[in-house]
Amino acid sequence: MSVFNPHKGLTTHKVEVRNGSVKLHEEVELLVDGIRRKCIERNHTATHLLHSALRKVLGDHIRQSGSLVEPTRLRFDFSHFQTLTDEELELVETLVNQKILEAIPVKFERKHMNEVRDEDIVALFEEKYGDYVRIVSVSDFSRELCGGTHVRNTGEIGLFKIVSESSVASGIRRVEAVTGTVALDFLRKHYALLEDVRTLLEVPEDRILQRIADLFKELKDAATETKSLQQKLMLSGSVDHKEKKVEIKGVPVLTKIVENTSSDVLRNTADTLAQRIGSGIVVIFNLLGDEKVNFVVKVTRDVTDRFNAGKIAGAIATELGGGGGGRSDFAQAGGRRPDRIDHIISDIESFVS
Ligand SMILES: [Zn+2]
Repeated sequence: MSVFNPHKGLTTHKVEVRNGSVKLHEEVELLVDGIRRKCIERNHTATHLLHSALRKVLGDHIRQSGSLVEPTRLRFDFSHFQTLTDEELELVETLVNQKILEAIPVKFERKHMNEVRDEDIVALFEEKYGDYVRIVSVSDFSRELCGGTHVRNTGEIGLFKIVSESSVASGIRRVEAVTGTVALDFLRKHYALLEDVRTLLEVPEDRILQRIADLFKELKDAATETKSLQQKLMLSGSVDHKEKKVEIKGVPVLTKIVENTSSDVLRNTADTLAQRIGSGIVVIFNLLGDEKVNFVVKVTRDVTDRFNAGKIAGAIATELGGGGGGRSDFAQAGGRRPDRIDHIISDIESFVS
């Protein structure tokens, strides 16, 4: 790791000795990992361009509150109170890429602190820069106090792509981006994904969205169809759902057992059966495995003065080891003892009364 001290004009290197030893006054040769260094340079200069572009697009209130420059990506945190819109992000990205395409030489100057105090330079004055400062500028588009490593010309960045925008704290936004070959890899990966989707859907690229919308509609229609078929089957009696009809105090009471039925179908079936008997009570039990059952109770309006669906449901639910209730003409509830259903049906009078 190397640290530049602009105050003394010295660069300090921290090294780890893996083999042999290092003695005082010994001469050493330093080799920079060229490819890695180039990636960092691209991301660092791109960070400066991003900073200026954000100020141009969003306003001068933008202040850097942190940044990270890595070989594979760059991260920039700044003060701003809203989520950036897609349009703003596109403007920022386009502006940075414009400056890359203009292939502007990056300029480095060393000046005394007093000389630059009055200049309009983006700097973090909390940071110690010493008496002398280094100014990194890209024409008049970007001018920052910075001791970091940069490309010599913005054209070296190649390509700049924003990959995410998020919030890190109240009033602080974060933009992450990639440059150069990493940006190319990023776009390639997304294009490959699009190709996979296109192949899977068996349509040309410009019909992908329409195909997905069509598939969603087909799925929805199929689900509606399944529901209506389920209901028809249940009412037709072609499937052996146990059904029993008795009369209590001159009022017909219909009980029925079904399995794994959705609550809408259950409710609709109860309505249809109630219409079929004209006047009376309908109770449908819906088995959902060995330890779960739910049920609905329907009481036709003309007899709600004598029978209450909510109360009937409460009594049955207690027997089933569960709970629930509802209005006087309709109620639904459930329990954990489906083995009690036969007993309830044979003794339905005591639950209804
Ligand atoms: Zn910098």
